[in-house]
Amino acid sequence: MKGRGARLVSIPPRKTTRTRPFSKQNALASDLTPDRMQSAKAPPCKNREILKDRMRADLRVYRDAVAALEAASLESTAKTFDKAVKNAGIAQRAFQAARERLNQHTAAHGC
Ligand SMILES: [Zn+2]
Repeated sequence: MKGRGARLVSIPPRKTTRTRPFSKQNALASDLTPDRMQSAKAPPCKNREILKDRMRADLRVYRDAVAALEAASLESTAKTFDKAVKNAGIAQRAFQAARERLNQHTAAHGC
């Protein structure tokens, strides 16, 4: 047991996390958007996309934690099960916090 709890609390993005070429997407979107539609549809907000990606990453962690919980409930000791319950709780709170951040951003930024 070396710093495992701390690692879970911060929920680092998993190894699949890659930074996407946002600028490319933005350029593409504005190329395809006629002028009269610009006011109706704002260009994608970079921060919102980042927060969305973060939320998706946290959701993946949460899903994995729930899968581990399911496995633990079927075959493991009470101690292992308790740990899986705890991990799933941590992952759930992280996901909810990420979702909250996204909602707060879109509410404040209007994007
Ligand atoms: Zn925004």
